[in-house]
Amino acid sequence: MTTTTRFDPIAPLASLPGVGPARAARLVRLGIESVRDLLLQQPRRLVEWPAVLPLAEALRRRGERVRVRGRVRRTRLVRLGGQRTMVRATLEDASGEGDLVFFNQPWMQRQLEAGREVEAAGDVVTFGKERAIGAPQLASESAPFPAPGTLVPEYGGGDGVTGEALGLLVGSAVERHADLLVEPLPLEVLAAHGLPPLPEAIRALHAPQDRASFERARRRLAFEPVLALQARLQARRARSGGAAPRVRVSDTLQRELLGAFPFDPTAAQRRVIEELRRDLDRTRPMRRLLQGDVGSGKTAVAVWALLAAVEAGNQVAFMAPTELLAVQHHYGLAELLARHGVRAELVTGSLRAGERRAIVERLARGEVDVAFGTHALFSEDIEFRNLGLVIIDEQHRFGVDQRARLARKAGRDVHLLLLTATPIPRTLALTLYGDLEVSVLDASPPGRGELRTRWVQGDDRRKIFGFLAQRLAAGEQVYWVVPRIDGGEEDSEAPNAERRFADLSQRETLARAGIALVHGRIASEERRNVLDRFRRAEVGLLVATTVIEVGVDVPNATVMVIEDAHRLGLAQLHQLRGRVGRGAQEAFCLLLGDKKAERRLRLLERSRDGFLLAEEDLRQRGMGDLFGVRQAGENFEGLEDPERDLDLLLAARDLFQKRPELVGPYAAEAPENLTP
Ligand code: ADP
Ligand code: MG
Repeated sequence: MTTTTRFDPIAPLASLPGVGPARAARLVRLGIESVRDLLLQQPRRLVEWPAVLPLAEALRRRGERVRVRGRVRRTRLVRLGGQRTMVRATLEDASGEGDLVFFNQPWMQRQLEAGREVEAAGDVVTFGKERAIGAPQLASESAPFPAPGTLVPEYGGGDGVTGEALGLLVGSAVERHADLLVEPLPLEVLAAHGLPPLPEAIRALHAPQDRASFERARRRLAFEPVLALQARLQARRARSGGAAPRVRVSDTLQRELLGAFPFDPTAAQRRVIEELRRDLDRTRPMRRLLQGDVGSGKTAVAVWALLAAVEAGNQVAFMAPTELLAVQHHYGLAELLARHGVRAELVTGSLRAGERRAIVERLARGEVDVAFGTHALFSEDIEFRNLGLVIIDEQHRFGVDQRARLARKAGRDVHLLLLTATPIPRTLALTLYGDLEVSVLDASPPGRGELRTRWVQGDDRRKIFGFLAQRLAAGEQVYWVVPRIDGGEEDSEAPNAERRFADLSQRETLARAGIALVHGRIASEERRNVLDRFRRAEVGLLVATTVIEVGVDVPNATVMVIEDAHRLGLAQLHQLRGRVGRGAQEAFCLLLGDKKAERRLRLLERSRDGFLLAEEDLRQRGMGDLFGVRQAGENFEGLEDPERDLDLLLAARDLFQKRPELVGPYAAEAPENLTP
């Protein structure tokens, strides 16, 4: 699965000198699986080679990387016990003396014999009461140090691969493979935006002449995912020239439809429904994105469209990103749909073969009006007789590729309604989703209780149990969310859902209310069963992973505890806490998380504004999440700062509009050319 096809196919890591199976395995753990990944490795930062300093001056610069030159006066080898050794070599220059310190490199004693002239570079460390230069690099005749001012990229290593080792590997990948990259864009297009061609960009990224060329290289690489995305949008636009069935909603019918809900639609819902009503009353296929904060009531709008479409004789596909959510919708809407004579079925991956076959046949004969499901709805074997409307809930949770595939399968002759709780700034919406109209549900239904969010630290954690026991005793319900299912390999104390469930089950005051566990590895039937019991309040305390992030709608649940909150992004935390505060009672979200996430957690305490939080999330986490690029399994995150690179988005859009012949290669799914 690739979003950036330009760099495929891929030379294996083992084709590089010095990479055997063990090293390759370590690299894979860092997310580097091929030479391509190495070439695309973003340096963590650029460091500038310092000029030579007098020793006395250098040693004053604690914590800094310094470069010195001097003559060795004496060298001592100290045995530290076991195999461990330390070599201290004292240098002198005109300003005085200073030590170089090497650990576990006993051969340095002989190498640094008295009288030798050396040049060394390393960090100034404190060493007992003294200062020294720790673990320095030494210049040699064959490998002299770069000139002062030379920029060297530094890479973040990890997992048994040092940043330096990674740098060397990247260097050798660049040496062997950079020139084999093919630049797919015409040079004049690149020139117009001040961008270098790919091979040059890769070189400049890893061995920049200056900061300006490094920045140009970064932008050239950031252009790739943007191009791929725009090309796909463009290709989709080109394909969507078909005609969809016209859905007329008379005023009489409209009154009836609006009366279908157990509540009065809000003004915002009515406005958006009118927008949809106009869209559907045309043969040009509707392409509408409905943005609305969690809890703003998007489902009702979607259900209006569903009823209207079915009324006009169409089938509807209602798709959700998780099976859990698909089940929720199917269950939650069953009664309302039945009342209107709408025949609904659930199509998921976990149907038994026989059941599935029966449903598939009825869909094909047009005996089912609405199919709820995950992407399984668009499997090869499923044919609709007269599909007229596709609704995709929580569309931001689908990857770019998945969305493209679904759109293709859904066909160009259906209306499409996308729902999302991840609001995106308008300029971006227009650029990214250039083929979509955007509606916004900007007000939530009335009658919601207050939702208070608190970051709970230290000793206060213990008070949580008492608080939960009170709430449970009052008949209210509680979610306890832990992102990890199990493991936390590095730390046996790390919270995970399995362990937390076991712990909480031991606490009589909590367990008494009924406790259950739900996560992605629990069989879907059992999952459904647990949620049913939670909905019926037979379970008071539900321990869960983020599987409950979307769709679970239990107004009687008033408290959510989120452990390891620092592991989750702002938008996701906001979405999660949207599960509580749905009823009239006061609700609470208690965040347990590391101090390192203080800024985020405090922001959640202060704000319930999904737009603001999403923008902040965007700023902090980059475009990968927004594009769904990361979800699509792509580790190339190109566009880190959308505002800085907004011109690239616009450029990509213009480019393909003016030069449609370039769309093909970028939009293609099959990887081709660029053969490192
Ligand atoms: P989301 O936009 O997050 O998908 P939902 O559609 O799940 O939100 O709606 C959240 C809750 O608000 C549901 O319980 C729903 O029944 C309720 N709701 C939706 N619209 C209204 C309304 N106009 N008045 C009262 N409650 C509403
Ligand atoms: Mg929803």
